[in-house]
Amino acid sequence: MARRELTVAQAWRALERVPDPEVPVVSLCELGIVRRVRRVDGDLEVTLTPTYSGCPATEAIAASVRQALGRAGETRVVLRTQLSPPWTTDWISAAGRDKLRRYGIAPPEPGGAAEVGGKDWQPLRFQPASPACPRCGSRRSRRLSQFGATACKALYRCEACLEPFEYFKPI
Ligand SMILES: [Zn+2]
Repeated sequence: MARRELTVAQAWRALERVPDPEVPVVSLCELGIVRRVRRVDGDLEVTLTPTYSGCPATEAIAASVRQALGRAGETRVVLRTQLSPPWTTDWISAAGRDKLRRYGIAPPEPGGAAEVGGKDWQPLRFQPASPACPRCGSRRSRRLSQFGATACKALYRCEACLEPFEYFKPI
């Protein structure tokens, strides 16, 4: 594709379908990781807030953002990482939550983290109220393990339909 300068709207469109490396069913935009896109002195500046500081996926995220914009023809990409305010699961869009649920992952309960003492607690200590089963909606769920396939998820079992499911832990 020929080199060209994308408008900010075109850049957002190019980023819309970039999957999250750890939870590929949702995009970086739906997770709220892509915070801002703007043109600064001819450069396309993209501000990212990683989900967890020190998250090993951060490098992969930066690479896939560069790749998506490069494929759309943009050559002047500048990535900025912004850690403050810290990313929170509250930034996951409604569309992102629906996709998680359809994929069998219970989306984080909004504000669930606050119940256990606020956002400065480390994610390991969060013990959210029983999340709703993504298959049948029952809240009679029991935690089997603090960790699912990735550290950001916990493993639960629904006591109503007996299916295990992953819960995207709120932070
Ligand atoms: Zn169920």
